[in-house]
Amino acid sequence: MRILVTGGAGFIGSHLCEFLVAQHHDVTVLDELSTGSVANLASCLDAGTVRLVEGSILDRDLVNECVRGKDAVFHLAAAVGVRTIVDSPLHSLRVNLYGTENVVEAAVTHGVPFGVTSTSEVYGKNDADGLREDADRILGSPLLSRWSYAAAKGLDELVAHIRASETGTPCVSYRLFNVVGPRQTGRYGMVLPRFVAQALNHEPITVYGDGTQRRCFGSVYDVVPAMVELLRTPAAHGRAVNLGGREEISIRGLAEKIKDFTGSTSDIQTVPYDVAYGSGFEDMARRMPDLSLAHELIGYTVRYSLDDIVRSVVEDSYRVDDRDSLLATP
Ligand code: UDP
Repeated sequence: MRILVTGGAGFIGSHLCEFLVAQHHDVTVLDELSTGSVANLASCLDAGTVRLVEGSILDRDLVNECVRGKDAVFHLAAAVGVRTIVDSPLHSLRVNLYGTENVVEAAVTHGVPFGVTSTSEVYGKNDADGLREDADRILGSPLLSRWSYAAAKGLDELVAHIRASETGTPCVSYRLFNVVGPRQTGRYGMVLPRFVAQALNHEPITVYGDGTQRRCFGSVYDVVPAMVELLRTPAAHGRAVNLGGREEISIRGLAEKIKDFTGSTSDIQTVPYDVAYGSGFEDMARRMPDLSLAHELIGYTVRYSLDDIVRSVVEDSYRVDDRDSLLATP
């Protein structure tokens, strides 16, 4: 199949490209190389198995040209990372709203099945014990930039599913829960690669807030094949589907685990949210998925434990010469 991956030079996108290439698909990437990088796609670009088109999803004509003639589109291009959203709220909102609309319009115009990457962030502060896809959203004030990401992604899902159903185009939206793995950078806020880089550098491990907030981390190696399988599954079309892991851990617990795993001498340091992200920042206390819909639709199971994930991120970090580059905002 001829497949377009928007955001294919990003962390999840590049793993998706490698997976599709291994299945002998013809893959084109559309990426503006903002948070993504050519280095993420090095193996595919060197082997000539992926074609990279450098450009923005805000460029409607370019998006249309890239989508035309494809058999499937995976839309991952977005402004991502809490740091990015807080630092550039308006640009992030525009990319995530108008960029997605461009991709959706191109896909339905050409009748190309498409998957839209959404996020567990859409549930906001709902800390239920296992968030199902029909769970209520509990969002903070629209004037707090943190929630603009959840607002935009929620609207993306609506636009995608409304246009897909109006036109009879197959569509799935993926709600990803803290997906992590090799090649994810901590530059844009993501906690696990940040803690690993800090631990390996023997620098303070920065726990924001009191560290009692809890997350479930999912392996990119579990999530990527599921994204592909869901788009191939007619029963999944028209659905939003949670994907991620099952093991819940507090952020302080994660810091301790990574410190132990790496044998680091780092201190674990508590940083108030307003120092980390500016005043008025709100975090969510807990975010845990119910993964039964993905299991029902495609037999989704979690194969990689949190220990497996931490090991893979640590091994990947050893390959990076300048670990500071994993933390600094460019
Ligand atoms: N976090 C932290 N230290 C960091 C970066 C993040 O303690 O250096 C916290 C953050 O406040 C949140 C959790 O780790 O409670 C997960 O953050 P991330 O940005 O990775 O994902 P999300 O907040 O979207 O779940």
